[in-house]
Amino acid sequence: MTVNTNRILLLLEHPANCRLLGQWLGERYEVVICNPSDGLDGPFDLAILDGLGLEKQGEAALVDRKRVEEPVFLPYLLVASRRDVGMVTRHLWRTVDELLLAPVQKVELQARVEILLRTRRLSLELSLRNTDLEALVRAVTHELRGPLRAISGFTHILVEEHAARLDEQGRKDLERIVSSANDMSKLIHSLLSFARIGAEPAMLEPIPVETVIRGSLHRLASEIEAQQAEVTMEGDLSPTVRTDPVLLQMILTNLLTNAIKFIAPGVRPRVTITVSCAAPWCHIAIRDNGIGIAPQDQARIFRPFGRLHSVDDYPGVGLGLATAQKAALWIGARLGMESVPGQGSTFWVEVEAVP
Ligand code: ADP
Repeated sequence: MTVNTNRILLLLEHPANCRLLGQWLGERYEVVICNPSDGLDGPFDLAILDGLGLEKQGEAALVDRKRVEEPVFLPYLLVASRRDVGMVTRHLWRTVDELLLAPVQKVELQARVEILLRTRRLSLELSLRNTDLEALVRAVTHELRGPLRAISGFTHILVEEHAARLDEQGRKDLERIVSSANDMSKLIHSLLSFARIGAEPAMLEPIPVETVIRGSLHRLASEIEAQQAEVTMEGDLSPTVRTDPVLLQMILTNLLTNAIKFIAPGVRPRVTITVSCAAPWCHIAIRDNGIGIAPQDQARIFRPFGRLHSVDDYPGVGLGLATAQKAALWIGARLGMESVPGQGSTFWVEVEAVP
């Protein structure tokens, strides 16, 4: 796959500089010369700006344009004099990805332009491949639901209307079909949740951290009761975080499900949720008294189907942590864990705190 990325937008305040640079770059690339007071709407693969162009365009507009393209990288190259650099320091490296000090050597400019365009191309190719793969997973998973519904429907009829005529072995086999169809239905549901993350943009909004935690606990109320789990909350729960509440709740629900599930037989699950916020992050930790995870297995569990136990010991599909990890990436959160085998684990997520 080769994607064409050679469209350069020039946002230079000085008309003579703009024309000269445009002519020179125009021999190799497609150049769009934009008056800095124009918008950033058209398609481009790299913007070259000077200090005034940057100021005129405004940081918010430049950052917004970058965000629209994420996760694809849209590079900005700033060409500035030493004096201008002082003026625009606050943009470095939030808005600007590369800086060249004027007067600029042609060979240096050419090298930077090439590197930035190549990085753009690679991120675009990766994103296209990823989108294709995710669309395929969604389509396949979706298509599997029809046949599975038919299998479940007909086995239900068999159980209801014909089970009495089967011998014991026949009834056992039928039970196995019903249980396998249930497992497959859970797998399809989990795969769809996994594949759907990223299909829609994250909806970041300010929300009290307590609301999200209570939402997860509410969803898990019957599991918590069935396991007679003791859940306590510690720390100041009043802070507000900026996040996608649906995805953060999905992360916490997956972590809490595991915290009450991976417990030694006969042990009552005790889970402590601790919140501690210090800008720019709010740290939400979920500590359990479970079986723990050996150090050599701790990276593997975040991969799809990175299960460490048989389904007979602990039920599950093996997509909970992979889903949590993908959702965390998507909302700009950080996810991690510490664990001592035989004593318990602490899984944590860090989200943007609202000051
Ligand atoms: P699932 O829960 O469906 O098995 P996950 O992706 O949620 O899959 O977790 C992957 C694996 O990580 C689990 O199978 C388990 O071995 C391990 N694991 C996750 N959370 C915990 C925990 N709190 N304590 C011990 N092991 C855990």
